This record gives sequence, structure tokens and C-alpha cells, in this order.
Amino acid sequence: MPLSSVQALDWLRSDDLIGLGMEASAVRRRLHPGNVVTYQIDRNINYTNICTEYCSFCAFYRPVGSPEGYLLPFEEICRKIEETIALGGTGALMQGGLHPGLKIDYYEDLLRRLKTRYPAFHLHCLSAPEVLNIAELSGLTIEETIARLRDSGLDSIPGAGAEILDDEVRERIARLKCSAEEWLAVHRAAHRLGLRTTATMMFGCGETLEHRVHHLERIRRLQEETGGFTAFIPWFFQREHTSLGRFIKEETTAVDYLKTLAVSRIYLDNIENVQASWLTPGHKICQIALRFGGNDVGSILIEENVVSAAGCTRTTNEERLRQMIQDAGFRPVKRDTLYRNYFLN
Ligand code: SF4
Repeated sequence: MPLSSVQALDWLRSDDLIGLGMEASAVRRRLHPGNVVTYQIDRNINYTNICTEYCSFCAFYRPVGSPEGYLLPFEEICRKIEETIALGGTGALMQGGLHPGLKIDYYEDLLRRLKTRYPAFHLHCLSAPEVLNIAELSGLTIEETIARLRDSGLDSIPGAGAEILDDEVRERIARLKCSAEEWLAVHRAAHRLGLRTTATMMFGCGETLEHRVHHLERIRRLQEETGGFTAFIPWFFQREHTSLGRFIKEETTAVDYLKTLAVSRIYLDNIENVQASWLTPGHKICQIALRFGGNDVGSILIEENVVSAAGCTRTTNEERLRQMIQDAGFRPVKRDTLYRNYFLN
């Protein structure tokens, strides 16, 4: 029986951390019977930081006309991909700000050229707000936009831009960005067009526990409808250098992180993978998170610009991630962007 929303809320309010961890571990073991924890080698490529949305939790963007605004040249993107391949990487997560001057033809050309040069390299690109921006600027529907991007080389879509899928929260922290329904519409369309996507949640931005459960409900319902999400990735708001950070005085605690991760694992038992993060909570909490439902630790993140702009500057490498997983009592296995354990031996 799936957890009800009322039970999810009760668990989030509960102090029974150990009980919650055990429940989440049981779901994790049911979905992943081996003692394996996966990770990936990829990099983030933030092709532009120019953005029109002014989200209050974001320290990465620069407004149009800023001297610090950039748009990466094609050869620079290629250099980053080649560096990733040299480190054993199989793909990149490429996303950026909502640039007001880039229409569909820019992205079609970029994806096509990248796919021609690196046919086996997985292009996990363009968050839902970017897809909506391209559609609007180009006078296309969401479906037309995604189909054209897919036909140009887009392999899958990342879950960024979800924050909390409740418009009461979005109105406060990202007034100009897409609504919850619009975010879901992009992912629904992508799934129908045969693309897999991930789902994320950024919590600790002043939302209530009810808002978090509402977010989980919406993700669960879409997964029931399409089955297109490969993974759920919860992470918490980093406050430094952000305007929202002036109002959120305390960052999410480790206990809150572990509870939210565990409830996500139990509630979203129709999504195969739940990611435990080392980037924001740190390596030690990440190890504990593997006993709270996480079966994957994400990427070594050769390059990360968005969270680091908000004050989180942790780094890692493959050896360290493997050691971290082993020390927590699991077997590390490298995967690809679609969570396939090609490298199992
Ligand atoms: S979170 Fe994304 S959409 Fe919002 S300001 Fe930052 S780059 Fe722009």
C-alpha cells in the first residue's frame, strides 16, 4: 500500500528518526535488492547565466546587460565535454538561465552539432522553465518544442526548476518563473514524446511541510500517469548571496534533510531511484542518507556553478565517492544518465 499524504505529513512531523529510516530502507531494499549504490561521472555545463526571471533563491543568474553575463561559445562547450569524456564521463547536464534572445534554432543547431561530434555522449539538457522560454520565444507549443529538441539530439530532460510545486510558494520565491502546472506539463509532454526526465525538490525555502507533501503528491500522480521519471532528487536551499537568504535565517538541518529524503523514498515508491546528495549536506550526511532511502549519490560533478554561487563549494572525485559508498556498507557501481548499471561487474 502506498503511503497516504496524511501519513507522509505525520512522518515529517514525527521525531522517530530511526523508525523512519528503517521504513525508507525497507522500500529501498524492495526496489534495489542488491547492496548496490550507484553514482555517475558527468558535469554540469551552464551555457549561459543571463536570465530574465530574478528568482530570489538564485545567486547564479545575471540580468540582461550585466558585464558578468555570458553565453559559452560552441568550442568552449566542446572543451568541457572532452574533459568529461577523458575522466570516464558519459554525459552532461546542460542548462542555463532563461535567455531572452535564444530561440529554437539556436538550440537545434547546438544540439545537432554536439550530437554529430559526440554521438555516444548523453545530452541531459534544458530544465522545464527553459523549454517553456524557448517555446514562448519561438511561438511553438510545448510538444512542438520538445519534439524538435529531441530530433536535434536531446536525450533527456533534468528536473530543475521544480523548487516546490505549489504556486503559493512559487509566487513568493520565483514570481516570474513557470507555475507548478506548467512545470508538470513540460515533463508530461517529454514523457509522451519518449524522453525520460528526473524530478527534483528544493526545500527549506520557507515552505510548510504541507507544501512539501503537495509537491510529492503531484510528482507521484504524474509518475502514475506516464512512468517517465527515472529518479527523484531532493536537495535543500543554499542561502548565501541570495536575496531570499536574508529572510531565511537558518539553513535546513541534517535531521530535516534525512526525514524529507526518507519520506520521499517511502511516498514515491513508483519512482525507482532516489538520490542522496553529498554536495549540499556533505559526504558524512550522504552516507547516513543511504540508510534513509537513498540508492544513488549523483555525480562527481566535475563542474558545478549554481549551488556554488550560493556558498556551497564542496567538491569530490570518483575515488572519494566510491570510498564513501564502501565505508557506508554498500557496493559502488557506476551508472549512466538513465540509471543503467552498464558498468556492473
Ligand atoms: S533559478 Fe534559473 S530561472 Fe531562476 S533566476 Fe536562476 S537561472 Fe534564472
